[in-house]
Amino acid sequence: MEKVVALCKRRGFIFPGSQIYGGLANSWDYGPLGVELKNNIKQAWWKRFVHLREDVLGIDAALIMNPLVWEASGHVANFQDPLIECKKCHQRYRVDYIKDKICPNCGGKDSFTDEKMFNLMFKTFIGPAEEQTNTAYFRPETAQAMFVDFRNVVDTQRLRLPFGIAQIGKAFRNEITPGNFIFRTREFEQMEIEYFIPPPKSEKDWQGPFEVWRKEILAWTANDLGVGLEKIHEHEIPASQRAHYSKRTIDFEYDFPFGVSELYGLAYRTDFDLANHERYSGQNLKYRDPDTGEEFIPHVIEPTWGVDRSVLVVLIDSYTEDQGRVILKLPPKLAPIKVAVFPLLANKPDLVGKAKGIYQDLKHQFTVAWDDRGNIGKRYASQDEIGTPFCITVDFQSLEDEAVTIRDRDSAKQERVKIVDLKTHFFGKIEVE
Ligand code: ATP
Repeated sequence: MEKVVALCKRRGFIFPGSQIYGGLANSWDYGPLGVELKNNIKQAWWKRFVHLREDVLGIDAALIMNPLVWEASGHVANFQDPLIECKKCHQRYRVDYIKDKICPNCGGKDSFTDEKMFNLMFKTFIGPAEEQTNTAYFRPETAQAMFVDFRNVVDTQRLRLPFGIAQIGKAFRNEITPGNFIFRTREFEQMEIEYFIPPPKSEKDWQGPFEVWRKEILAWTANDLGVGLEKIHEHEIPASQRAHYSKRTIDFEYDFPFGVSELYGLAYRTDFDLANHERYSGQNLKYRDPDTGEEFIPHVIEPTWGVDRSVLVVLIDSYTEDQGRVILKLPPKLAPIKVAVFPLLANKPDLVGKAKGIYQDLKHQFTVAWDDRGNIGKRYASQDEIGTPFCITVDFQSLEDEAVTIRDRDSAKQERVKIVDLKTHFFGKIEVE
């Protein structure tokens, strides 16, 4: 984990937030390479679950919603974690963070206060007066917007059940014990789908789509993130530990270096959310079956993915060392830079001109880096460290045969390809869209 964090800082994937002011505990900023990696993950997700499907449409809702939303959803009353405080050093922890009743900060044993519940929502005030009546919350999950916008989506789109509404966006939680780099932060991003189904007449009516989404989560993890499923564990959450709205929940956990922990989740939320929003808003949130005319409140299956945890898993999973050299074996379509272009020598204008032409041309297709410092070996090493899958070298022979050498990150194999064939050569190997 330390090695991944060090690489992220050294190469500009992820920096400590507000660093010049001494930082802000557990806040992180994505740097130039990190933002590309994160965007590629979001883009791959949107492509798989929105663009390639006919039954899912996307929205992008406001971060601050009417505070009644959070009353209806149960978050004001229930979105809380049990907190304990060490009486010796006054450090506060989420209860499940403490092992063997020992304070991780001062080592105090049995020094904790009784549990008290702490609401995780971030409060703010709308308008210039900081009064109780103006209190609002930064959304603690993206999900509620899909319920609140349900009527608008149904009325404006031609959708028939079952269908899903998807969203990618920021969520905020005043976590008691954030940490482990970007694993648990107070500001993070989620990719969520609310998949609406008719009210089940039997258990299998919801278990069927639940199972489909269970497989979809695994397929995404293996195919899009390139993560071996032997490192993923499905944890069936017992009824006593499930969120207030859920009839079944599976946590998809990953073998993080700091222990097995949640990566994604899947929940059957019944009609809890839409029914509550109908009650609180006084608006009709029923779906009308176009064939039978029957009106009902749909039920919902919710697969949910953390963006930042996806980034972390991809980084951890791709990190390899070979004789002390770091090679980040990112799936090519997630790599921040797809291709690096080098002139063999930086002081030969012919080579530089030819290489610059290729660089400028390929930039229209995907992200391309330029490097003319040091020798070729060093340039390869530098690109391997950030996961660039292909490097192109323009040499003296290129001036004669209009071909370049392409070197593959993982196999280190080199092949000669005509410049005119470069785009077709890369096609399908690295593009997301
Ligand atoms: P945890 O048990 O780790 O607190 P959770 O069960 O509360 O997580 P959900 O409410 O199911 O999490 O949120 C959906 C997804 O959002 C999680 O699977 C995770 O990927 C991501 N997530 C939740 N909280 C955080 C956080 N504080 N920092 C980063 N990602 C988070």
